[in-house]
Amino acid sequence: MKPAPFGHVRASTLDQAVETLVAEDGDAKVLAGGQSLVPLLAMRLAQPTTLVDLGGLRELDYIRDEGDHVEIGAMTRSRAVETSPLVATALPLLPAALRHVGHVTIRNRGTLGGSVAHADPAAEAPSVLRALDAEIIATGPGGRRTIAAADFFQGFLFSALEPDEILTAIRIPRQPAGTVVAVEEFARRHGDFALVAVLGAARLDPSGEIAEVRLSVAGAANTPLRADAAERLLTGQAPTPDVIAAAATAVAEATDPAADIHAPAEYRRHLAAVLTRRCLHRLFAHAERSAA
Ligand code: FAD
Repeated sequence: MKPAPFGHVRASTLDQAVETLVAEDGDAKVLAGGQSLVPLLAMRLAQPTTLVDLGGLRELDYIRDEGDHVEIGAMTRSRAVETSPLVATALPLLPAALRHVGHVTIRNRGTLGGSVAHADPAAEAPSVLRALDAEIIATGPGGRRTIAAADFFQGFLFSALEPDEILTAIRIPRQPAGTVVAVEEFARRHGDFALVAVLGAARLDPSGEIAEVRLSVAGAANTPLRADAAERLLTGQAPTPDVIAAAATAVAEATDPAADIHAPAEYRRHLAAVLTRRCLHRLFAHAERSAA
């Protein structure tokens, strides 16, 4: 299929990009890596009058150590984030999750900001942002504002961004030293979106009890899901098989999956429990090895 006709503005400054969005009054769309938007245009599921192309905005392509958090510019390619030594050290959950996104060619073009703005509940990056309590920075005609990840994802492909706002950066708190991470996904083919993915990060204290655990789930609700009931259940406990099984049940109960052509809702709920169990077993095996 071919897209409907549209105009193309290659923005040379952020101000110009915002001004174009304001002038088009909700009918324009931002183009980042095009890996989600171009298929939508081709299928005519999106028919903007104008594309505001951020490809020339080098100022949105950076990964910066800000001490207690890392700030990543919206136009940073997913592959650059995945292979960054700073991100590997400070935010190990992020590259562990990005490795599951499509294929390398898609991650070479797709941007972190694009994946977050797209707000697909099955995508990995939004789930990392939920697990790590990230913040999203949006710039619009009224200036900059910061939105907590917990408030940003509002529905299927629907976020707190206004039509005249550009997602400019993502700030993610540094993960504490000694944190181990695991990502467990089930996809029908390598490179497909996961039917369900469970992302986890944890630390054990010296006595072997769970000092901190963060869990999120992709593909199991209309937004990325933070499994806070399971986190509460696990914290302060020894990671025994019974505790892990109870946490997996709590995760499944928190899901609200939709049925679609790929899987019935009940199957996704079942997967959430199975993948949570696997994720936690892997996390605590890593944690015990790194403490030894
Ligand atoms: P674009 O496609 O350019 O934009 C996506 C949407 O976000 C558009 O609505 C656009 O207007 C908006 N947008 C983009 N940037 C901004 C911004 N800075 N401010 C405001 N709005 C903005 N993703 C996964 O997470 N997991 C997968 O397994 C996966 N598999 C894939 C497999 C295939 C075959 C393909 C083609 C894609 C896959 N993707 C997957 C999607 C991929 O990760 C995309 O790169 C990503 O979702 C969108 O990033 P982008 O930079 O390409 O954004």
